[in-house]
Amino acid sequence: MQNKEIRLSSRPVGVPLLDNFDIVDTAVPQPKDGEVLVRTLYISVDPYLRGRMRDRRSYVAPFEVGQVIQSGAVGEVIESRSPQFQPGDIVSGMFGWRLYNTANADHLIKVPADLPITTALGVLGMPGLTAYFGLLDIGQPKEGETVAVSGAAGAVGTTVCQIAKIKGCRVIGIAGSDEKNRYLKEELAVDATINYKDGDIRRALKEACPKGIDVYFDNVGGEISDAILPLLNHGARIVICGQISIYNLDQPDIGLRPQPYLLVSSALMKGFIITDYAARFAEGVRQMAQWLSEGKLKYAETIVEGFENTPRAFIGLFSGENLGKQIVKVG
Ligand code: NDP
Repeated sequence: MQNKEIRLSSRPVGVPLLDNFDIVDTAVPQPKDGEVLVRTLYISVDPYLRGRMRDRRSYVAPFEVGQVIQSGAVGEVIESRSPQFQPGDIVSGMFGWRLYNTANADHLIKVPADLPITTALGVLGMPGLTAYFGLLDIGQPKEGETVAVSGAAGAVGTTVCQIAKIKGCRVIGIAGSDEKNRYLKEELAVDATINYKDGDIRRALKEACPKGIDVYFDNVGGEISDAILPLLNHGARIVICGQISIYNLDQPDIGLRPQPYLLVSSALMKGFIITDYAARFAEGVRQMAQWLSEGKLKYAETIVEGFENTPRAFIGLFSGENLGKQIVKVG
């Protein structure tokens, strides 16, 4: 068996480039007591990894130059030195971008066999839970309210749109192509969509939200989020989930100052990191799995083939190449 790993070879400036990554041949590691050897099957690429490529303190430590990139992945146990897992078990966890990883068995979750295993990286994994807790806990959508979602056709966004529909809301999805918006309307029953790359976003939002906005689920920040502020209803809630439009900027992006808008609408704006909800993950997975089995929740995935294409799949997040969850199928 030959191992390979993908390292950060230099810190990106602006949008990451393939040159910022190295693919290196390495040895297959040996599991120690309490560990398992896992063959990677699917890798999740996520926008927040861009933040870890900066030499800046944040809620997770930055990657060092030369270090293997790490993200969520699903793999098959090849060898086990833990009673918790047997060879052949499918597990999810945080892994290096490697063909083979060793991992402490306590840090892995067995993936149930009743659903496609990629769901552990998407709708039943970190992005799905982010949608669930962010929308329900902070957004608190009520029947009949208007919920606007940016990044609406991505992994988190598609799930937010559907949960808001389940809660009886009118949902406005904002995404970067007509094809994505068609999916949102035709497959997910989103009430109105806006292609933010096509025309005046302020006017489009005003037309799409004649009764104003009660909940804004913010995946992107920047000018799209600025355009939301004048439309907030009294008591509106803004869920700050992500700010992908600024992840590649080196200088701060100064837009509209939100305070006056929050003041006059008595609105709440709150950020969160999904690990804040770690103690409630089981509840989230249970509810989402139930909605999936009842056909109330759908999911989309964009799957890039080939381990060596992992950096390319990651970079593609910043030009919107994915519909739903972006995943790499290894080998
Ligand atoms: P997505 O699947 O939504 O992929 C990223 C999408 O962002 C792209 O498909 C693209 O869609 C859109 N995008 C890229 N650049 C821009 C831009 N400049 N302006 C507007 N949209 C842009 O990713 P995720 O669902 O995994 O994540 C969505 C957001 O949620 C991210 O900001 C992420 O960091 C955040 N997040 C936060 C978590 C938390 O704990 N708070 C946990 C997980 C994710 P389009 O074609 O529409 O432009």
